[in-house]
Amino acid sequence: MKTSEHIFTLCVEQQPLQIIIYHKVLRLALAFGSSDEHAEEIAESASQHLQNRQNASLLCAIENEKEQISLIISDQHEEIWQEFCKLPSYPDCTTIKEQQLLLTGLSIPGLLQQMQQRQNELQQQRNDLRQETERLTAKILHTNMAMEHQAMHDKLTSLPNRPLLIERATHALQIAKRQHFNCCLLVMDLNDFKDINDALGHQIGDLMLQEVASRFKHCLRNSDTLARLGGDEFAALLLNTNAEQAQVVAKKLHKALLQPFELGGNTLSVGISIGITEFPEHGEDVLSLLRRADVAMYHAKHKKLSYSIYNPLLDEHSIERLALLNDLNHAIKEGGLELYYQPQVLTAGDGLPSLEALIRWTHPQKGLVFPDRFIPMAEDSGLITPMTWWVMETAVAQCAAWHKAGLPVNVSINFSAHCLQETDVAERVEECIKRHALPDNALVLEITESMIMEDPHQASTVLLKIDAMKVDVAIDDFGTGHSSLAYLKHLLVDELKIDRSFVMGMHEHDNDEIIVRTAINMAHSMGLRVVGEGVEDRKSWDALTAMGCERIQGYFISRPLPVDQITRWLEAFSQDGLKLDDI
Ligand code: C2E
Ligand code: CA
Ligand code: CA
Repeated sequence: MKTSEHIFTLCVEQQPLQIIIYHKVLRLALAFGSSDEHAEEIAESASQHLQNRQNASLLCAIENEKEQISLIISDQHEEIWQEFCKLPSYPDCTTIKEQQLLLTGLSIPGLLQQMQQRQNELQQQRNDLRQETERLTAKILHTNMAMEHQAMHDKLTSLPNRPLLIERATHALQIAKRQHFNCCLLVMDLNDFKDINDALGHQIGDLMLQEVASRFKHCLRNSDTLARLGGDEFAALLLNTNAEQAQVVAKKLHKALLQPFELGGNTLSVGISIGITEFPEHGEDVLSLLRRADVAMYHAKHKKLSYSIYNPLLDEHSIERLALLNDLNHAIKEGGLELYYQPQVLTAGDGLPSLEALIRWTHPQKGLVFPDRFIPMAEDSGLITPMTWWVMETAVAQCAAWHKAGLPVNVSINFSAHCLQETDVAERVEECIKRHALPDNALVLEITESMIMEDPHQASTVLLKIDAMKVDVAIDDFGTGHSSLAYLKHLLVDELKIDRSFVMGMHEHDNDEIIVRTAINMAHSMGLRVVGEGVEDRKSWDALTAMGCERIQGYFISRPLPVDQITRWLEAFSQDGLKLDDI
C-alpha cells in the first residue's frame, strides 16, 4: 500500500530539548517501509547543512497519512531516544531497526506540540528544582550558621568558647604585630566555685556562671572578647591594651563580683583570681599567652591576690626561670649571696636599734638582684629552705660578732614557713644559736602572716618550741593575710610588723590609717611590740609615734646596708644616738 509521505529533517538539541524542523526536504510519495534508504540519503544531505551546529543530533522524520512517524536516528543517540519516550502523551514507540523508531499516532505538528509541552514541562521542573535548590541552600546555610554558632559558643552563657577565642586572638595578634600595638589576655577563675556547686547544686551554680558572665561583659568594651573556657574559667581578649591598662580592667572585673549574688533565695559571694599576659612581651602566639595567663592566674590564686601579671620567674616551664634557679642554687652553695641590714629604731629612748637581715644576690651577669625577684621563685621551687638556713647561719654569726664587738644588737631574719614544715626545725635553730653562743632573745624570726595561716597547726607546734629557746617571733607584713590578731597571739608571737603598704598609704587613705591605728592598739592590748615598716618621711614617723608605735623601720632612718656600712652606722648611733633632724 502506497501512502503519501512527508519527510522532515529534525535537528535535535538536548539542552534544552529542542526540535527544530530544519528542512522540509521533500514531499513525495513512498511506500512506507521502503523509505528508509531514501530517508537516510536525505538525512545525509541535511547533516551537511548542519555540520556547524554543535551538540545537535540529526533525525530524519517521515510522516505518513496514518499519523505514523518513522524516525531515523542519524547519530546513534541513546539520550535522544529516551527523551522521545518521555513525551507527554507518550507515543507508541517501536524500534524498527537499530537506528529507526516508529512513533504511531502522531503527526509532525503534533510531535512538535508535544515537544513544546515537554520543553515547558522541563522548564517548569528546572524552575522547581532551582527554587528547591535555593530553599535547601538557604536552609543549609542557616543550619551551618547555627551549627557554627553552637560549635563556637558556650551553651550556658552564649559567650564565645575556647576555639573561638583562639581564632579571634590569632587574628588580633596578626594585626597587632603589623600595626605595633599591644594586646592582653586575661584568664579569670572563680574562687571556691566548687563549694557553691557542691553545696547548692548545679542549677544555682549555672545561674551564678550566667550572672558572672553578664557582670564581666559590662566591664569590657565591645571590641574586646569575653569567653568561657569551661567550668568556672573565663577569659578576656583586650585589644590595643597594655599590661598596665589591663590591670585597671582586672580591678573592674574583681569589683564587679563584690556585690553579692541573689540566686534561688540564697545570697552568695564569689571571688576571682585573674592572670594577665601581654602581647608581645609574654608570648608571640595565642597558646603561649593563654598558658602563661594560666600560670599567672594560679600564682594570684595561691597568693590570694585578685590578679597577677605573668612573671617568667614564677613559671616552672620558662627557660629563664630554670636558668636563674640553677644560678641561685649555685649562689647558695658557692657564696654568691650577701646579707644587708636595715635598722629598726625605738621611737622613745636611746636603746640600740635592732637590725633586719635582708638578702642580696649579686648575679655574675645580671648584677645585683633584689629579693622580690627571686624569693617567690625560691619559695615555689623549694630552694627557699637551704637559702633560709644559709641566712640563719650568716645572720646569727654576724649578730654574735657584733655582740662580741660591744654592739649588742638584735637581728631579725625572714624565716620562710617552708622551714616550719621540717621535722627538726627547732633543733636546727637551737643548734645554730648554741654554736655561735648567741645571747637569749637576740634572734627574731619574722614569719609572714599568710604563711602561718597556710598550716596553723604545724606553725603553732614549732613556735611553741621556738619560744622555749628564747627566740622571738615577729608577724611580718601584718594586715595582708586576713588573720585575726587573737589567733596570732595564741601562737606565742612577740612582735607585729605592720605592712609597709598601710604605713605608706596612711596619709592618703583614711582606711589605711584606721588599720594602722587599730593594729597598734590591739597589739598593745595583747602585750605585743609593734614595728611600723616603710617609714620614708618625718610625717609618717610623727604619726606612728603619736599612735604609740614603739619601733620604726624605713628609708627615713636608713636603707638596708652591707655589713661594714651598717657597722659604722651602729657605731655612730651608739655614740651620738639618732639625730632625726640630720636626716
Ligand atoms: P620585708 O620582709 O617586708 O622587708 C622589708 C622590705 O622593705 C625590704 O625590701 C626593704 O628594703 C624595704 N623597705 C624598707 N624600708 C622601706 C621604705 O621606707 N620604703 C620602701 N619602699 N621600702 C622599704 P627588700 O630587701 O627588697 O626585700 C623584699 C622582701 O623580700 C622582704 O620584704 C622579704 O619578704 C623578702 N626577703 C628579703 N630578704 C629575705 C630573706 O633573707 N629571706 C626571705 N625568706 N625573704 C627575704
Ligand atoms: Ca621582714
Ligand atoms: Ca615586712
